[in-house]
Amino acid sequence: MNPLNKLIVKTIPLFPRKLVRLFADNYIAGETLMNAVEKVKFLNSKDIIATTDVLGESITTKEEAVKSKDEDLLVLEAIDKYKLNSNVSIKLTMLGLKIDYNLCLSLFTEIVECAKSFNNFVRIDMEESAVTDGTIRIFEDIRIKYNNVGIVLQAYLRRTESDVMKLTETKTNFRLCKGIYIEPEKIAFKKKQEIRDNFLKVLRLMFERKSYVGIATHDKHLVEGSKKIINELDLKQNDYEFQMLLGVTEKLRDKIVAEGHRMRVYVPFGERWYEYSTRRFKENPNVAGAVLKSIILRK
Ligand SMILES: Cc1cc2nc3c(=O)[nH]c(=O)nc-3n(C[C@H](O)[C@H](O)[C@H](O)COP(=O)(O)OP(=O)(O)OC[C@H]3O[C@@H](n4cnc5c(N)ncnc54)[C@H](O)[C@@H]3O)c2cc1C
Repeated sequence: MNPLNKLIVKTIPLFPRKLVRLFADNYIAGETLMNAVEKVKFLNSKDIIATTDVLGESITTKEEAVKSKDEDLLVLEAIDKYKLNSNVSIKLTMLGLKIDYNLCLSLFTEIVECAKSFNNFVRIDMEESAVTDGTIRIFEDIRIKYNNVGIVLQAYLRRTESDVMKLTETKTNFRLCKGIYIEPEKIAFKKKQEIRDNFLKVLRLMFERKSYVGIATHDKHLVEGSKKIINELDLKQNDYEFQMLLGVTEKLRDKIVAEGHRMRVYVPFGERWYEYSTRRFKENPNVAGAVLKSIILRK
């Protein structure tokens, strides 16, 4: 781990909220749904589509899970009301995945049903490896009835290639990312190049198995590698999209848009910005360093 990133993370608990907010403001739309609406409107005006996310994770009570579900329904209503080009991203631990599988499935079904009524789409974010099986199980259960739902797979997990084989027995809509959580070497690739190699290997496999893929990365090497695969397989513009996080590598993002690729930006918002930001920094100290660097360089 880079010693500077380690130092930033160690000192974060000492930072006043105002300073953490400075970090957070770079890549969070704001605290309210209207903040997110305005941000998505702005992105849409630049030919960028969005996926909106209510911040938070791992709730511990049924009441909190129901509240999360209600918040997601409000987001879907706002997207329809303000005619935004955005779908929603959901963390299943916010709907109680860790406390009660059936509760989570039933709340998630309500969200997917609501999205369907608005002709919209729901993306299931992928969280830490303890919930990978549960997350995939919910996805498999829900897609028996609904086709407006997709899942995320993480290129750093050794199991991902076999998950792709299993999940592409029927047509699947994926997001592929490197993965943000700290996982043990036994189950995850750790070296930067290994993760990149697996990303491109899995991406090719997803396309060969006729999937739609959201290519979620800010890594120039992976953007170039993905474009090469897109050309080789002669894919059309509506076979894939690139995805980036709000406020990250905007120059690279704009270049991809200018080249005519579809680009979707992940727009997180909500009151839980402080917990989200500090947890992200602790979970992956390199993110803290990257954020600091991007604030300084505005790249
Ligand atoms: C749209 C989207 C959705 C995602 N969903 C998930 C998910 O469901 N589950 C999951 O585990 N992970 C998710 N991730 C995170 C992902 O797994 C990676 O941790 C993250 O994208 C960094 O990897 P990278 O491919 O961008 O490459 P990196 O090599 O990590 O980053 C390349 C460059 O991008 C910049 N950068 C990257 N991340 C940030 C940041 N947060 N802030 C500032 N600058 C940054 C830095 O300049 C860095 O040098 C998502 C990422 C995106 C873009």
